[in-house]
Amino acid sequence: MSVPSRIESQPLPLPNFSLARAASYLVDLIFPPACGSCGRVDYRFCVDCQRRLRAAAISRIPCQVTALDAAAASGKYSGILQSALQSFKYEGALELTPILAQRLISLLKALAWSIDCIVPVPLHQERLTERGYNQSQLLSESVALALDLPCQPDMLQRIRETSQQARLSQEERRANVQGAFAASASVAGTSLLLIDDVVTTGSTLSACAAALRAQDARTVYAIAVSRA
Ligand SMILES: [Zn+2]
Repeated sequence: MSVPSRIESQPLPLPNFSLARAASYLVDLIFPPACGSCGRVDYRFCVDCQRRLRAAAISRIPCQVTALDAAAASGKYSGILQSALQSFKYEGALELTPILAQRLISLLKALAWSIDCIVPVPLHQERLTERGYNQSQLLSESVALALDLPCQPDMLQRIRETSQQARLSQEERRANVQGAFAASASVAGTSLLLIDDVVTTGSTLSACAAALRAQDARTVYAIAVSRA
């Protein structure tokens, strides 16, 4: 019997490990999650509520945002859409990604904007580590795949940590995010689509657009699942 002189060793696959996800798994064991819409235990967002979310009407809400060529949202931030976005963003209900992305895909098909590339609104590295995912990037990747467009998260970076916009007034929001983003030189001459989950005053999208324009982006559009 021949003995192999060297055992072919394959590197062990590294698990997709993040401390935040491991911690959230442990928390779920001790405190089971409840559906973000109806409260049913053991679901972050139960199948019945997912069905209602899928059936929720898609509107075309134009948003006026400084520095953008056009912006739109697929619905108002209320009812099942609001619960879904909160579960998606804060409770790790990532199973909602395709349902929420489908709203953006339908809206984009109706808008027929000419887009070269999709850019998610970036999270600062610290917040990304804490949450374990960037909800805007998950939506962007899903939309990009469906529309056969490139998704380029590295075209835009958050260079400064900012306070949570939710607690701030409109004026404070603008000051909070001004200069918080930097774009790569590769955006020059391109038509870009920014994707975010919720647009409130538009100050984050506006600051992103300003950074992209500073690097000579030709056109900057933005789309969000909902407008608050
Ligand atoms: Zn439910």
